[in-house]
Amino acid sequence: MALRLAHEILTLQTAHPFTIARGSQSEYRVVWVRLRDGDGLEGWGEADPSWYYGETAETVTAALDRLAPALPDDPFALEEADAAMALVLRGNASARMAVSAALHDLAGKRLGVPLWRWWGLDPARAPRTSFTIGLDTPEIVRAKVREAAAYPILKIKVGTAGDEAILRAVRETTDRPLRVDANGGWTAKQAVARLPLLEEVGVELIEQPVAPDDLDGLAMVRRAARVPVIADESCRTAADIPRLAGVVDGISIKLAKCGSLREALRMVAVARAHHLAVMVGCMIETSLGITAAAHLTPLLDFVDLDGAALLARDPFRGATIEGGRLSLPTGPGLGVTAR
Ligand code: MG
Repeated sequence: MALRLAHEILTLQTAHPFTIARGSQSEYRVVWVRLRDGDGLEGWGEADPSWYYGETAETVTAALDRLAPALPDDPFALEEADAAMALVLRGNASARMAVSAALHDLAGKRLGVPLWRWWGLDPARAPRTSFTIGLDTPEIVRAKVREAAAYPILKIKVGTAGDEAILRAVRETTDRPLRVDANGGWTAKQAVARLPLLEEVGVELIEQPVAPDDLDGLAMVRRAARVPVIADESCRTAADIPRLAGVVDGISIKLAKCGSLREALRMVAVARAHHLAVMVGCMIETSLGITAAAHLTPLLDFVDLDGAALLARDPFRGATIEGGRLSLPTGPGLGVTAR
């Protein structure tokens, strides 16, 4: 019997307005996807559209209405589902991702095992997650750093003229490990000029220092930096990885970019074959989206899955974070429930 797809737009508020080099926002609209089989069993997924990748909640719901009739009747036909969706629609990665997560959830529920177990992974191997501090005035950044006392690693958004004041304010407030993410906000020259400051405050990782297409710039920053340089916006799917080998030290997977959990696993394999480190990042999303990504973490080197922790209210319960340590659910499939 055919799987029935239902979708619902959820409006999320962040606890603080969240600002990165590209802009500021405090309200986010995501789409909750439910796939129901003939026995009444449901698989859930979340689409986290970003205008940066050409999607909104409205394009997601329109895409889902196109994708639904193309789905196989069998939730285990995951390869077939990906191929069918790719034939119906190009792009629309977050919409396809929500369906992929829902199929994995439904199949895992039929098997009665959590996704990490189905994949043969050990949840104890998941690296600790960082917590992100968005761009703000040094005073507010200080307050946010103190508020994030439970998180052992901080990721600081940079990429503006205020970088030095922000990084010094953070370092005066805490001695925790720091990572930075410029979201492409620097030129290669600016990035290299900031390296002494980054070293002085003890930054251990640099994410997307320059514009996504500036691979020469990425390579220049990597040659000059003593810490790993990770490509995020420069890397959407596995096909982007070979040309990043020798250019950066690692790549960042985001489910909203790559379009399916099978593609995320392919990205891990392709990155490893090119001797690249692998990180997973997220959008502002609920515990439903975060948990789908969390099942991958035992395979990865760096984890930044704080999206649900930045919310004022999370509609779901799934993977939890304690002292930076991710705890994967033991329930079948994604293991996510509504709050
Ligand atoms: Mg990033």
